[in-house]
Amino acid sequence: MNVLVLNAGSSSLKFQVIATDLERIKQNSDERLCRGQVERIGGNAIITLQSGQGARHKSTAPLRDIGAALDYVLKWLTSAESDIPDINSPEDIHAVGNRVVHGGELFSESALITDQVLKGIEDCIDLAPLHNPSNIQGMMAARKIFGQNVPQVAVFDTAFHSSLAEPAYLYAIPYHLYQRHRIRRYGFHGTSHRYVAHRYRALRQLTREQTNVITLHLGNGASATAIRAGKSIDSSMGMTPLEGLVMGTRSGDLDPSLVSLIAMKEGLSANEVDTLLNTQSGLLGISGLSNDMRALCDELHQHDDRRVRLAIEIFCWRARKYIGAYLACMNGADALVFTGGIGENSSTIRARICSGFEWAALKLDEEQNDKLVGTEGEISAEGSKLRAYVIPTDEELLIARDTVRVILGEPHPS
Ligand code: AMP
Repeated sequence: MNVLVLNAGSSSLKFQVIATDLERIKQNSDERLCRGQVERIGGNAIITLQSGQGARHKSTAPLRDIGAALDYVLKWLTSAESDIPDINSPEDIHAVGNRVVHGGELFSESALITDQVLKGIEDCIDLAPLHNPSNIQGMMAARKIFGQNVPQVAVFDTAFHSSLAEPAYLYAIPYHLYQRHRIRRYGFHGTSHRYVAHRYRALRQLTREQTNVITLHLGNGASATAIRAGKSIDSSMGMTPLEGLVMGTRSGDLDPSLVSLIAMKEGLSANEVDTLLNTQSGLLGISGLSNDMRALCDELHQHDDRRVRLAIEIFCWRARKYIGAYLACMNGADALVFTGGIGENSSTIRARICSGFEWAALKLDEEQNDKLVGTEGEISAEGSKLRAYVIPTDEELLIARDTVRVILGEPHPS
C-alpha cells in the first residue's frame, strides 16, 4: 500500500510516500519512495523534493494555500520527473496518513477520518489553535484531490500520552479549571516517543510490558517521557509544548508568576509574554546568539563564549533533572533513549546529560557514543545497569504504519 503521509502546518506542508503493509511492518522492510516539503505557502513557496535516496531538488512557485501545495506535490509525484516507478497516477496513492497535533481527551489512538472524527478534531481546535486548523486543511485538501474512496487516518501527537494518570496530568490549580476548560497536561511528540520505545524493544527483543525507559526527544522542540510497561506515564510538555525541557526558543519550566512580572516590568501583554517565552527564550534567549545547538557547540569550541556555555549547561541541567525525577516516579528505568536532531547527532550533549548518573549505574561507552551519529545503537558500556541508546526517530514511518493498521482494522499494536 502506498501511503501519503502529510504534516500540514500554517504555512508549510511536509510529505512522504511510504510503501508498507502488514507483512512489511512485521519485517521492518517498509520503503520510503519520496519525501519533500513546501514552505512559505501563501506567497512564492519554496519546494524541496526528493525521490528515494536521490538528490534533493529545490524550486519556487506561487502557491496560494495547502490545497495548491498538495496539487503541486501530486503533479510531481505522478510525473516522469519524480521517477517513482510505482506512482504514475493519483490512483497509485492508496491511503493518506495525517499528523494531527492535538487529540485532546477524545483520541487515545489513531483514527480513520470520518465526519465524526473530523468534528472531534475541530472540537480540539481551542487546545491547539495554531496547529489543528492546518491539519484539518491538509485532510480536506487530500479529500478534494483523492475523493472519499481513498481512506485517510489521523495520527495524534498527544495520543501516546493518553495513558497518563490523574496525578501526572492534573495541575494543582482549582479543579473546576480542568472541568470547565480541559486545562491539564496532554504532552506532545507522542508519535516520536512511541516510535523510539518500539524500536528499543525490537532491539532488545522485549515485550511491551517489559519496556521501562525514559525517552528524550531533543530537537528544536524537546521533551522527555517516562515509559513504564510500554505506556507513557508522564511527559514533560504540558497543556502546551512550552512546559518542560529547555528548547531552541522555548523556556520550558519556569515560575508561573514570571508571566505577570515580565508583563509589568517590560510593559507587555500576557500574549506578548507568551510569545517571548515561546520564540525568544531557551537556547536563543540565554546565548543571545542562536537557537541551533550545533551552531552553539561550534561557537563554544571556537570562542568559549560564556553565555553560549551557559545555554548548553542549562539545557543539560534541565534534562538531567527530568531524568532524575522520572527515575524516581518510575521506580527506576532500564534505559535512556536519545532521539531528535540533538539527541541523535550530538555525542557531546549526550555525554553531558549522562555524566553524574554513576549512582544509577549508568556508564557511557565513550567510543561508541562518539561513533553513533544519526544511527541506532547502544552507547552505554558493558555492565551498565541503566543503559543508554541512540534511536533516530521516524514519525512518518509510524504514521504510515498506523494508517495501514487502522484501515485494515488491525488492533492497536503492542
Ligand atoms: P530537530 O528539531 O529534531 O530537527 O533538531 C534540530 C536541532 O538538532 C538543532 O538545534 C540542530 O542544531 C541540532 N543538531 C543537529 N545536528 C547536531 C549536531 N551534530 N550537534 C549538535 N546539535 C545538532
